[in-house]
Amino acid sequence: MRSETGPDVLVVGAGVVGLACAAALARRGRSVLVLERNVAPGREISSRNSEVIHAGLYYPAGSLKATSCCAGRERLYARCAEHGIPHRRTGKLIVATREAEIAILDEIAQLARINGAGEVEILSAGEVAKREPRIRALAGLWSPESGIVDAHALVMSYHAEMEACGGTLVTRTSVVDLSCREGAWRVGTVSPDGDRFSIEAPIVVNAAGLESSRIAALAGLDVVALGYELHLCKADYFAVAPSLGVLCQALVYPVPVPGGLGIHVTLDLGGRYRLGPDVEYVDTPRYDIDPAKADDFAAAVQRFLPEIRSEHLSPDFAGLRPKLQGPGEPFRDFVVAEESAHGAPGLVNLLGIESPGLTSAGEIAERVANLVAQGAPAGG
Ligand SMILES: Cc1cc2nc3c(=O)[nH]c(=O)nc-3n(C[C@H](O)[C@H](O)[C@H](O)COP(=O)(O)OP(=O)(O)OC[C@H]3O[C@@H](n4cnc5c(N)ncnc54)[C@H](O)[C@@H]3O)c2cc1C
Repeated sequence: MRSETGPDVLVVGAGVVGLACAAALARRGRSVLVLERNVAPGREISSRNSEVIHAGLYYPAGSLKATSCCAGRERLYARCAEHGIPHRRTGKLIVATREAEIAILDEIAQLARINGAGEVEILSAGEVAKREPRIRALAGLWSPESGIVDAHALVMSYHAEMEACGGTLVTRTSVVDLSCREGAWRVGTVSPDGDRFSIEAPIVVNAAGLESSRIAALAGLDVVALGYELHLCKADYFAVAPSLGVLCQALVYPVPVPGGLGIHVTLDLGGRYRLGPDVEYVDTPRYDIDPAKADDFAAAVQRFLPEIRSEHLSPDFAGLRPKLQGPGEPFRDFVVAEESAHGAPGLVNLLGIESPGLTSAGEIAERVANLVAQGAPAGG
């Protein structure tokens, strides 16, 4: 095994969050090394999501999900403009299709105003029909600050910025061991060819997405006692046949369901529509989609888009949410924590970074850079 003295900060994982952290740290003059097990960055959660810029409507007031989403949204729109990242402020419509759901729209509007999710407006059935003629609803909530972004371009922009500021990404390198000795973390890695390598850094940022709980455990933390265990929650998407034409101009969502936002209609920057995602807890990572689910997807969306039939749908892709809460358990917030209090000084854990993590990445990164600045020595 080869061994080397390393950077100020070692980041585990080159998804949007790890690379945003690496860019923020490199911008502040830290030497940064990012280790990624795949052949290229952004191949896991960051490439299997809805690519929605969330306004920050739903999350409990004061939660990190709410604050990092609202601040992250502004940061993200500014970044997209500055770096030429494809995006569009499509707006988003949440629709009530049952009388009881109208009160839920009012609750969401109230929460959105508390959270700072930007302007929101309650629409009547007629106003919904005027805005989106193919959508049927009793009422709607309009959020003009919601939008869509090219997630791959966003990941690449952070990668480029990190490298321009002197940081390095090494791919095909899995972190398999972590131990702390005399104020430094020794990080053991293995390549797909079995080559082993270890490197030292005073600070490790755990941005390993679906594996972040495992990395925390490798660092010696009792993930069960700390509530850091992850539950994988699968999310399937179905593509809508282009023959249906322009279904809607905005993103159209039902009122939220436990565990997710409800099967909704999203569009990508190429103008393709898809339905999803659903919510299915799984024991092991898998990305297959049962085509028979098309019936359930069509039925869910027919409530507000009556012309959708299962024959219009084909399996598109699946993603996995890294959830801290198991099925039926209450809300859990993002964990962004420097772990001195748990006997792991210099380890910054990012756990449970599910939606709205894409929107929040820039803001989470600033938070991580501040944690590092407060507690960690600058490297020479
Ligand atoms: C279905 C779904 C829909 C979503 N929709 C939205 C949305 O519309 N808007 C929004 O804002 N957010 C959304 N999100 C959330 C968003 O996609 C995530 O929060 C974000 O992509 C997480 O990025 P990440 O960098 O933490 O994880 P990842 O992108 O998974 O990156 C983690 C990286 O760590 C690497 N890694 C893991 N273990 C190791 C190891 N041992 N050694 C080296 N490397 C390792 C992985 O290979 C991976 O590349 C959605 C998420 C899901 C699942």
